[in-house]
Amino acid sequence: MESWYEVKPSLERGGLGVFASRTILPGTVIMHDPAVMKLELKNVQFTDEEVRDSFNLLSDTDKIRVLKLHEGHRPFITRLMRIYKANSFGAKGFTMLQVDISGVNHSCVPNADRQDDMENDEKTDAANLVAIRTIAKGEEILICYNSNFEGMTVTQRINILDSYYGFRCSCPACALPLKERILSDTRRQLINVLSSKCSGFEPLGLSQLDHLNRQTAENPSMTIGLPQFPLRVALSTAEKTAFKALLAELMQAERLTNVTTANLYREAAYHLMQQMSENRYILVIPSACYVTAWMEKAVKIFSDITGAHSKQTKAIKAQWSNWQRGEQLDLYKYLKLDYLQALSRGKGVGEVFAVHIGETVLNAEGLIGLKIEALSEQMCKTRLREGKGKVRGSIRSP
Ligand SMILES: [Zn+2]
Repeated sequence: MESWYEVKPSLERGGLGVFASRTILPGTVIMHDPAVMKLELKNVQFTDEEVRDSFNLLSDTDKIRVLKLHEGHRPFITRLMRIYKANSFGAKGFTMLQVDISGVNHSCVPNADRQDDMENDEKTDAANLVAIRTIAKGEEILICYNSNFEGMTVTQRINILDSYYGFRCSCPACALPLKERILSDTRRQLINVLSSKCSGFEPLGLSQLDHLNRQTAENPSMTIGLPQFPLRVALSTAEKTAFKALLAELMQAERLTNVTTANLYREAAYHLMQQMSENRYILVIPSACYVTAWMEKAVKIFSDITGAHSKQTKAIKAQWSNWQRGEQLDLYKYLKLDYLQALSRGKGVGEVFAVHIGETVLNAEGLIGLKIEALSEQMCKTRLREGKGKVRGSIRSP
């Protein structure tokens, strides 16, 4: 099969870059790259000897491929260590070097993602380079070198890239005019706080990175990062709903939409449904609207990123249609809102905010129908306060 990419000089970034040789759709595996070296992080750092021993096991061809890599400028004694540090990726106590993927340049608004190939290549420790949006023919393929960049300001990102990789990022997020940059920095700081909280951790202060430079970068307290502590108070369901939805919106505003964003919308919808089910007999219309909007966004993101017919898209569509079969969402789907609005205005109820789901009744034709009562926001609050949404017995199963 014709290759998805070609390696050629990157005029914008200097040095070589990896470019799309034809249009690449989201979800496409652009490269499948087995690791040539893998080191376990036994201590805080690995030693020159460990890197050398691992290198010595390589074939002559792989040795040449490794030695051709960019070595950066960090103050390590051996060139091998400098190469390894500048090109390896770390995860779960290991660092790995995949030679071809390490040739892909950086952007804080990437169009591709480096993913460990968990599915079928445990032995080779391969990574895949996967397109996360449509990449036009001739466009440079770019990944983000640091998974924490989503929650870092322009200054923090620039300091890290200069200190560890020796270049200044010129991506659209780093080259914003001042006003937009302040807005972007604020959003990224919020992303840092919310993503920590949503993962169950107290947010990390990142202010030390505002002063990071090549001299302080090798200080262990900078490289290891600070330990993260579990949340002192667990989030309530309402907080989980709000934080995840807001985080997803912020990621979209920062053009960082990815599979995680879709999952955040899905989880926000799930937590809101949990809240709705606490008052089974009162359907709050805005809640059903939000659940629907978030799930539609999640489906769209999965479809855009992984393809309309991918496993993930099919899975989330199936989950959504399953959820829609639940009592409240099923009713919401068939609720004739316009009719209800007109009816309740006529009765002086005002705008319909919720409906009280009553008992099943026989209508004139002898068919079973559901008795529902339109509620204004005020009426809804009163009923909820009185616990009417929870009362069993006001509804009879047909
Ligand atoms: Zn950037």
